[in-house]
Amino acid sequence: MNLSELLAYQSRKYPKKEGIVTPKECLTYAEWNDQVNQLARALTRLGIQAGDKVMIHMPNTKEFVVSYFAIHRLGAVVVPVNARLVRSEVSYIYDHSDAVALLTDEGLIDQVRGLADEKVGVFIKTGSAEGVWHSFSELLDKEDPIEIVNEAHEDEEASILYTSGTTGQPKGVVFTHKNIWTVSSMMAVELEMKPSSRMLHMMPFSHSAPLHLFLAGGTFVGATHIIAPTFTPDLLLHLASTERATHFFGAPVAYLLTAKHPKVKETDLSWMKYWTYGGAPLSKNEVQFVREQLGTDSLCCLYGLTEAGPSGTLLLPQDHEEQAGSVGKRAALHCEFRIVNEDGQEVEEGEVGEIALKGEGIMKGYHKDGQKTSAVLRDGWLLTGDMGKLDEDGFLWVIDRKKDLIISGGVNIYPREVETILLKHPHIEDVAVVGVPHPDWGETVKAHIVQTGQMADLETECPNFLKEHLADYKIPKLYEERVELPRNATGKLLKHRLREQAKQV
Ligand code: ATP
Repeated sequence: MNLSELLAYQSRKYPKKEGIVTPKECLTYAEWNDQVNQLARALTRLGIQAGDKVMIHMPNTKEFVVSYFAIHRLGAVVVPVNARLVRSEVSYIYDHSDAVALLTDEGLIDQVRGLADEKVGVFIKTGSAEGVWHSFSELLDKEDPIEIVNEAHEDEEASILYTSGTTGQPKGVVFTHKNIWTVSSMMAVELEMKPSSRMLHMMPFSHSAPLHLFLAGGTFVGATHIIAPTFTPDLLLHLASTERATHFFGAPVAYLLTAKHPKVKETDLSWMKYWTYGGAPLSKNEVQFVREQLGTDSLCCLYGLTEAGPSGTLLLPQDHEEQAGSVGKRAALHCEFRIVNEDGQEVEEGEVGEIALKGEGIMKGYHKDGQKTSAVLRDGWLLTGDMGKLDEDGFLWVIDRKKDLIISGGVNIYPREVETILLKHPHIEDVAVVGVPHPDWGETVKAHIVQTGQMADLETECPNFLKEHLADYKIPKLYEERVELPRNATGKLLKHRLREQAKQV
């Protein structure tokens, strides 16, 4: 159960088949596997050993994909980070993960220069060599592509992925080879991937869904990977049609932007078999709009979290008509789910509780944090920190994150419910509702609002708009206008920052 060995196997089976297609070049499976062997040898020569942590700080490029499999091949542990993180964020993860080397991109060197001076100090970049920096192509040129066999056991550590940090500091999630094998094979089966499949990658490989489900999943079956350095609606439409892409994964916002693109209706998207999304839901209206604009009935929603690999549940295309907004009724292959109360007991149907997941894809634990690990891994179940409930048809609805729950006067208020309604206001573009300390009630509800037009006054207009849809106690008592809301590199709202700011006032 070792992903890197799987690539070697596919390269023997499909040597001449397109493996990686980027805007600059195209590698067959045999060429891809050769480069993995060459880089693994070069890294070994530079002193990297099995078990060492090696950070990849690159956008989605051929170099990322070769590095990822090369690090696995020599039995070292991959620590991928989003190329859009700022220096202090990269530095935190570099130190926290105990990485001994950093593989970066020529365009990003200034962002990380000096970061690893105290460590082994192996750097790799594309382009010409300078100082301690080793160029990717020069390293490859010096090595023979003789096959290296990775003998790492399936239970050994394969990678550490850092969470988005939506609820606090990013946490280092440790995966074994078996974890990755499990979730990638799950996705290959669930999304009917085949050797003829063409995976279009536009979301950063530093995150578990693009990396484990789509890059590893596609490699599992010997599919072709079309790799774009970034996402724009224009590029998505262009590549999906010209490259005849069959599988795509994007955040809901990527779909909403693409659905509004002026060329969407005239673009041939007929090759696409699965338009998948996750990280957040799409509402019923949004699903209808996206389906209409993209001319598809193959939207598929994935629910999961980094800690789960991210295996979880799926809302299949055929259920989008009736159950859009939910995350499906079935756990993905190799996975189970249930909803539990504070004591870990299953709740009654329709009752809200915490979603728990179980399966071989679930992380080994948090890097260097046994306390946090035992708080979320109980008897083989992962407590997701998401509150959810089952409807009468057995579909799972994610209500909100447990950490975002507001308890005011002893009553539970789920901010997402308030936000969903506020976003229907024609002059509200973005909103974040959080609980802030209150001397009598424990917490009170505060809304942070980004406006599109000018409302008369938030304190009057918002409660008037909300009172038709919400019980009085859920209506925010405090309002603050914002030019923008704090979001991380993947666009996720950082509510803990808003709560901290409220405490400082
Ligand atoms: P951190 O743990 O540092 O706060 P994070 O949880 O944002 O980071 P991720 O693992 O990327 O990092 O996010 C997973 C979360 O995203 C889930 O726990 C859930 O709240 C939300 N989520 C994922 N998929 C869906 C979906 N299909 N529908 C609704 N919410 C989703």
